[in-house]
Amino acid sequence: MVAAKLLLDKKREGRALGTAEIREFIEGFTKGDIPDYQMAAMAMAICCKGMTARETADLTDAMMHSGVCLDWSDLPVPTADKHSTGGVGDKLSLVIQPLASSCGLAVPSLAGRGLGITGGTADKLETIPGYRCGLSIENFKKTVAEVGVSIAVQTDDICPADKKLYALRDVTGTVPSIPLISASILSKKWAEGASTLVFDVKAGSGAFMKTREQAIELATAMVEASKAAGRKAAALVTDMDAPLGFAVGNANEVAEAINMLEGKMPGPVLDLCVEQAALMVSLAKDMPLDDARSLCREKIADGSALGRFNAMVEAHGGDLERFRRLLEKPVFKFRIQSVKSGYVSGIDAEKVGRTALQLGAGREKAGDKIDPRAGVQLAVSVGDKVVPGAPLATLEKSTCPDGLEQAAAELYKAFSFSPTKPEAKNLILDRI
Ligand code: URA
Repeated sequence: MVAAKLLLDKKREGRALGTAEIREFIEGFTKGDIPDYQMAAMAMAICCKGMTARETADLTDAMMHSGVCLDWSDLPVPTADKHSTGGVGDKLSLVIQPLASSCGLAVPSLAGRGLGITGGTADKLETIPGYRCGLSIENFKKTVAEVGVSIAVQTDDICPADKKLYALRDVTGTVPSIPLISASILSKKWAEGASTLVFDVKAGSGAFMKTREQAIELATAMVEASKAAGRKAAALVTDMDAPLGFAVGNANEVAEAINMLEGKMPGPVLDLCVEQAALMVSLAKDMPLDDARSLCREKIADGSALGRFNAMVEAHGGDLERFRRLLEKPVFKFRIQSVKSGYVSGIDAEKVGRTALQLGAGREKAGDKIDPRAGVQLAVSVGDKVVPGAPLATLEKSTCPDGLEQAAAELYKAFSFSPTKPEAKNLILDRI
């Protein structure tokens, strides 16, 4: 093995590392032969000097091979998954994954837990009493084969190098680097084994990528690397300046996703779900995108997508009857109302996310406990007309009423108003 220090010198000088050099560095780090301080120095050098597309692909491949890689070649249907970089009110996976599966795809989906203002799909699903996200690899494979879709959490044997590296990046200021973010996300998605990948890269105040330019750069890097590695891939860059839909929290987001699957919440968020599921279907089945869109709409209208969601919940041990009863349990609430008249011109996703986090819907640090019923239920969307006294949102939590009023005062600052109706904004900003 080339001495780690020589590779650090090479990257610090901005030179490209070779395929074998990257593989050996990551193997050494995973085994513990390369200490954390050298890996952290390498992460910082990558942050400052960047990586070529080939280096990023090599880093992804090395991290993917640090653990188990799933193989779905025995399934009779194509496999696909979608990944979102996460946002506020982003319950889209709960709709898209079952919807794509109901169109004839197998959807193995390993989801994350929420941290900070970004909610995690696994936490949302686990508000359904009994739903187990932590499946063994065998059970995950069995569920995908039998039901057609499974949303579970990543096990420790998938991409251990990423878990170790991310913990270091988190404390060494080396998270914001396109090659490192791209390799981190892709290594987990490639290990999951789906042959088609659709990425939803969010841009805006409530997103990891604050600007559209950064989001385009990440989306392009992930699509190009995935294609170069023999997968079918596409990405949408989507708006995250305002929360997605009306529910921000956990149980309330699951309820909203079920509403969408039941066809009861038409509108831009459902349209975005259809677009992403249609992209998965179109790429995986080589079908024209318009036909894939029509198929998705059909599967919502005839109840197949909802049926797939219900079957997935049952296979994971979830009980939707108990979930409905959970939603009916009283919680502490505080309603905020407009003091202005005019139009809602903005709802700052970051501020809404912070309020939900403060109420107990999210985690400040890994391991924090979540209140399943905590969150924000918006009563308006951007563009709605309001008068003084019109409801804007309700804050909810189940533990105690403490802090509700103060959080409400903060939440009010998320709303901006204008005397004229703002121009309708498309959720899809770019297609890659
Ligand atoms: N999400 C990931 O999985 N990894 C990153 O580096 C950033 C976001």
